[in-house]
Amino acid sequence: MKQHIVAGNWKMHTNKSEASDLVMGIHDGVESRALPKSLDIVVCPPFVWIEHIISSLNGGVASQGASSSLIACGAQDCHHELKGAYTGDISAPMIADLGCRYVIVGHSERRQYHGETNERIAHKVVAACEAGLRPIVCVGETAEERAAGRTADVVGRQIDAILAGAGSAAMNESVVAYEPLWAIGTGVAASPEQAQEVHAMIRTRLNQHGAPATALLYGGSVNASNAASFFACPDVDGALVGGASLAADTFLSIIDAACAAWSE
Ligand code: PEP
Repeated sequence: MKQHIVAGNWKMHTNKSEASDLVMGIHDGVESRALPKSLDIVVCPPFVWIEHIISSLNGGVASQGASSSLIACGAQDCHHELKGAYTGDISAPMIADLGCRYVIVGHSERRQYHGETNERIAHKVVAACEAGLRPIVCVGETAEERAAGRTADVVGRQIDAILAGAGSAAMNESVVAYEPLWAIGTGVAASPEQAQEVHAMIRTRLNQHGAPATALLYGGSVNASNAASFFACPDVDGALVGGASLAADTFLSIIDAACAAWSE
C-alpha cells in the first residue's frame, strides 16, 4: 500500500502546556475523523516535550517501544552515531526508546545553522534506520539556484549523495521531503507544478537506485488553502508542515485535505 504522511515540524516553538494543548487538539480532531489506512499523522515537537507528548497521546502512560497511538511522534534531528562522547547531543536509539517512530534529518535549518552536509545526513539516515526510526530526509534548492535553472541538478545531487552514503535499503525505508528553501516560512509556496516536477525527478532517481517505496512529501508554506493542490499531484505523498502545524485547527484542515485526496 502506498504510504501517505502529514507531518508537523514544531521547530523551537511551544512551552510544555502549549505543546500539550496543541497535541491534544490535534488528537481529538483526528479521533473524530475517519483516516485512510494509508495516512500517517506525525508531530515533531522539540526534544524536551517528546516524552510528555507521547504519554499524553497514550492516555498518560509512557511508551514501551514505538508508540502505537493514532498520531505518531517524531524528533527534529538525531546524532549520526548511536552513542558516544557527544555532549549535548541526542541519539536515534534514545529517540526510539521514547516511543518515536520518525525523525527529521537534514532540515535546511540544520544544514544552514549547523553545517550539516549530505554525507553527515546519510550517516544520520543509517543511524535512524538502525534504531528502528523512519527518517524524513529533507532536500531542496535556494532561490538563487532555482533562478539559475539548477534545481534538478542541486536536488538530484543531494539525493545521489544521500543514496550513496546511506544505501538504497535505508532510503527505501525513509521519507524524502522536498522543501525549497525559498518556500520555507516565507508564505510563498512552490506551485503544485513546481513541486510535481521535482518530485517526479526524485521518484525516478529513487526508482533507478532500488528505493521505490520512499514516500515523497512537499514542504514549504503548506497551509489549509493550498494543501489540496499539492495532494492532487501524482508524485506528492504528503506534506511536511512548519508554521501551519502550530495551530490544531489549521493542521486538521490540512489533514482533511489529505483524507479527501486519499480516502479509500
Ligand atoms: C519546514 O520548516 O519544514 C516548513 C515546511 O516550514 P513552513 O511550513 O513554515 O514553510
